[in-house]
Amino acid sequence: MHKGSCLCGTITFAVLAEPKAVTHCHCKMCQKQHGAAFATYASVKREYLHYLSGEAELTSFQSSDSVVRRFCRKCGSNIEWSSEGEYADWPLAILDTPFKPSKIKVIFAGSKADWLDSSHL
Ligand SMILES: [Zn+2]
Ligand SMILES: [Zn+2]
Repeated sequence: MHKGSCLCGTITFAVLAEPKAVTHCHCKMCQKQHGAAFATYASVKREYLHYLSGEAELTSFQSSDSVVRRFCRKCGSNIEWSSEGEYADWPLAILDTPFKPSKIKVIFAGSKADWLDSSHL
C-alpha cells in the first residue's frame, strides 16, 4: 500500500494496488499546472484510490473536454488527474512512502521544456 499527502497535509490518501503505469508527461498543461518541466503520474483503478482525510478540500479544474484535474484548495498541491474511464492518476511526487517504478513511459516529448537538460534527469 502507498500513502500520499498534499503540501499542507489536509488531504491524505492511500493507494491499495500497485500502479498500472507510470508516466512522465511533458504536455504543456502539466507544465503549467505543476509549475515544473513535466509531471510524473501513476495510474490505478479508481477503486484503489482512497482518501483518508481532506477530500472535501479537493477542488477541480476541467482542463479539456474529458480531463479533470483535482487539487488541494488550501495549498494548491496537485492530487488527481482523471479522464473518462476507470483509472485515476496521481502525481508520484506527493507520495510519502517509497516507490520505485520498474519502468516509466515518456509522453508528449514533443513539448519538452527547452531548458530541461538531460543531465538533470
Ligand atoms: Zn493541501
Ligand atoms: Zn500532461
